[in-house]
Amino acid sequence: MERFSKLCLFNQNHKLEFFNVRSKSLDLKCDACRKQIVGPAYRCGSLFCNYQLHESCLALVQEMQHPFHPLHPLHPQVFRSQYCSACKQQMNAISYSCQQCDLHLHFDCASSLKLALKLKFHQHSLYYFGPHTVHSFGLCDRCKNHVSGAPLYHCMECGISLHFGCVQMPHSIKSKCHIHPLTLKDSFVEDDSEEYYCNICEEERNSENHVYCCEECDGQFVAHIECMLPTDFEFVD
Ligand SMILES: [Zn+2]
Ligand SMILES: [Zn+2]
Ligand SMILES: [Zn+2]
Ligand SMILES: [Zn+2]
Ligand SMILES: [Zn+2]
Ligand SMILES: [Zn+2]
Ligand SMILES: [Zn+2]
Ligand SMILES: [Zn+2]
Repeated sequence: MERFSKLCLFNQNHKLEFFNVRSKSLDLKCDACRKQIVGPAYRCGSLFCNYQLHESCLALVQEMQHPFHPLHPLHPQVFRSQYCSACKQQMNAISYSCQQCDLHLHFDCASSLKLALKLKFHQHSLYYFGPHTVHSFGLCDRCKNHVSGAPLYHCMECGISLHFGCVQMPHSIKSKCHIHPLTLKDSFVEDDSEEYYCNICEEERNSENHVYCCEECDGQFVAHIECMLPTDFEFVD
């Protein structure tokens, strides 16, 4: 039974223990994606490791080239005292790290930094953080209200944040990527597959984040905002 003999990510002498969570009332958090564990999962119970993760997350944890840090590959690590270079919160267990540069990222923060948005009014790239991100970003550079609990754009270079709403994305845009105009949505779930992709970059997308989608095609065309905007677009409304 292959499922029961996976090895620990960090120590070849540790065996991972398989478990299956059937009850939502058991509030177990995945140490990779930080979401609740329901369904098949693995844990390494050794004192040093002591992590648990979704079976689906285990498959994703591996060394990777990241566009935010092209210099070196990022490695999964177990950390407890380091802070995330993006959201500035403490690492809870597993991070993507470059030891050489002292760069550490939560899994969800690493996904946020994959897509950069360049807008005319700010000289650096901005990165989208969804409404459920735990962070210590402070005040919105536009309206001066706190950004916690709301989707936002963050600049990793000067550290400013902007409410998503304060950036004022066009509600509807037309681009070369699709025949119909696309509409801005604050989240979008097209089916119950629980795996959602962007039709432009074909990378996975978080269904709880803002997207552009085609209403005429009944949501069959969905794209990251960052994938939509770099192409020359025109306002429709
Ligand atoms: Zn281990
Ligand atoms: Zn997970
Ligand atoms: Zn983080
Ligand atoms: Zn590095
Ligand atoms: Zn604001
Ligand atoms: Zn900046
Ligand atoms: Zn995309
Ligand atoms: Zn369409």
